[in-house]
Amino acid sequence: MYYQSTRDKNTQTSAAGAIVLGLARDGGLFVPQIIPRLTRYEIENMAKMSYQGRAVDILRRFLTDFDNDEIKACVDSAYNKTKFETDSVAPVYKLYENLYILELWHGPTCAFKDMALQILPHLLTVSAKKEGVSEDIAILVATSGDTGKAALEGFRDVDKTKIIVFYPRDGVSNIQKLQMVTQEGENVGVCAVDGNFDDAQNGVKSIFSDKEFEKLLKNKNIVLSSANSINWGRLVPQIVYYFSAYADLIKNEQIEMGAQINVVVPTGNFGNILAAYYAKCMGLPVKKLICASNLNNVLTDFIKSGTYDRNRSFKTTVSPSMDILISSNLERFLYDITGGDTEKIRTWMGELSKNGSYTVDDETRDAMSKLLWAGFCDDDGTIAQIKKTEEEYSYVLDTHTAVGMNVYAQYVKETGDETKTVIASTASPYKFSESVAAAVFGEENIQSMDDLEIIEKLSERSGIKIPASLSELGEKKVRFEEVCTPSSMKTMVEKILGINNG
Ligand SMILES: *Cc1c(COP(=O)(O)O)cnc(C)c1O
Repeated sequence: MYYQSTRDKNTQTSAAGAIVLGLARDGGLFVPQIIPRLTRYEIENMAKMSYQGRAVDILRRFLTDFDNDEIKACVDSAYNKTKFETDSVAPVYKLYENLYILELWHGPTCAFKDMALQILPHLLTVSAKKEGVSEDIAILVATSGDTGKAALEGFRDVDKTKIIVFYPRDGVSNIQKLQMVTQEGENVGVCAVDGNFDDAQNGVKSIFSDKEFEKLLKNKNIVLSSANSINWGRLVPQIVYYFSAYADLIKNEQIEMGAQINVVVPTGNFGNILAAYYAKCMGLPVKKLICASNLNNVLTDFIKSGTYDRNRSFKTTVSPSMDILISSNLERFLYDITGGDTEKIRTWMGELSKNGSYTVDDETRDAMSKLLWAGFCDDDGTIAQIKKTEEEYSYVLDTHTAVGMNVYAQYVKETGDETKTVIASTASPYKFSESVAAAVFGEENIQSMDDLEIIEKLSERSGIKIPASLSELGEKKVRFEEVCTPSSMKTMVEKILGINNG
């Protein structure tokens, strides 16, 4: 199977090539030229498999230039007992008769990013070998919180790789910061940037486009790469858990094979919901994909009106991992629903980068609204949802999943649709403990507590064990205290890579 850019059909490459390159040279994203389909029998058969078996079964259909042993080795290195707290990796929790929560946060950093970033380093090293890349790969990441930590854990001590993460000094939660500055591993580096997320992101971008620097690194036997969510190697592992959830529902006799389900996804960059869309295209019986946003509701407006308009103020919310105005992976979805119309995609993306907006044709808008239902909620709605769900079902949602829950309630109210529904739960409530505890206990009751005390209190209430990776944070040694300015990020990279000798 070959991959090509969403903006140009004449850009064929293998899966390994797509994973190594990340972004196509024309600025487009790599997409498979054919989406494989599973038979009814093959889907049903997954009920008997472990998560790892399901992962191999999906990955092998896309990574056709990998052999089975390679795929199995990648899967086993990623989804094992030392990395994930539960044998089932991504368990499905029944909240009530029609509603199931797909918990994607049992990995080492307690957010769903682990589902992809635990396996990406392995896919990348195998791909690099296939593509004849002999240099060490240095991954640069600018993060607003979850991606940085998940990438650090994923790449830590992976042979022939190094990872450097920049985070905005005052732009991440206390827990997120503590997770990063105490990161272990021989090949990792972390640095705060005196600026906001955009400053850090722009700093990384300018390092990537610095040709002189590229040459200097090449002489030191290093190439740069990114662990961005547009990499195909991050997307394909996310398709697995939608099949896995469906297989679990069959296994636990909640549905019969062939029954349709709805899927709700708290959305930012459109990666997670795109994976659910691909699962549907592959034959998974999905009725509606429900796209949930916070106050940064560009996608809600787009799906309803057909006009994407990022010209609006950026809002900081209690669900920070969804605070995003450009959802990069949307490009892959548009490519697919226009039947692979690279010219349309080029035009729209050109307008987006020039004017910050574009409008799709009526046909595309109608195709979109058949597949997707969109809604959003503000911080008050998010907090109220956490409180309500805890009171009614003794289940503590994190802030992002709460946005999903709130929007799902809006969907049911508007449509009356009672189809069984799976909500993708994207983070552990402990990771955003301050907002979650304020919702559950009332702000006044946690005011004098530090983050780890708050987590304790939440755990007592919910009865859910605190993941070891969080409870140990207080005792861990702080390894990375450096702060740099956006303009000195390159010097910091040289220093961390040990090459600052001019
Ligand atoms: C990254 C993230 C999201 C958004 O996922 P996308 O794939 O970017 O849409 C939602 N919730 C949490 C907790 C995240 O870390």
